[in-house]
Amino acid sequence: MSEPVHIVCSQCRGVNRVPGTRLSEGPKCGRCHAPLFTGHPIALTGADFDLHATRNDIPLLVDFWAPWCGPCRMMAPAFEQAAKILEPQVRLAKVNTEEEQALAARFGIVSIPTLILFHQGREIGRQPGAMGTHDIVRWVRAQSQGL
Ligand code: ZN
Repeated sequence: MSEPVHIVCSQCRGVNRVPGTRLSEGPKCGRCHAPLFTGHPIALTGADFDLHATRNDIPLLVDFWAPWCGPCRMMAPAFEQAAKILEPQVRLAKVNTEEEQALAARFGIVSIPTLILFHQGREIGRQPGAMGTHDIVRWVRAQSQGL
């Protein structure tokens, strides 16, 4: 991958253009100089969800969860670990469905946790239920093959 890719900064929401070859070299935001990837999922809200879902050229994996949900809390470390493996080819994010009920309704989340994989604004995969790190990674790679 040598074409430039657009990566949204999780700190300032600036849209960066990163040469594909430099994606794995710890790119920083051109506007606020924060690292574009930290190996951790980012928290998204109604205010910045669409920006990240539509302006990133890499797929966006979203964990729809809630603090009161036991399986969600069980999956959290696995999702955290998956971020370390999948970045910078995939952006990982979390949506707290208790605080972001409009987003949960918009995507018809009926059970949590639910993972949804987006690419350039389109939903390309959905998987309800808690998963371990390797299942998450395998599932994402299968869904995003050929993008
Ligand atoms: Zn920034």
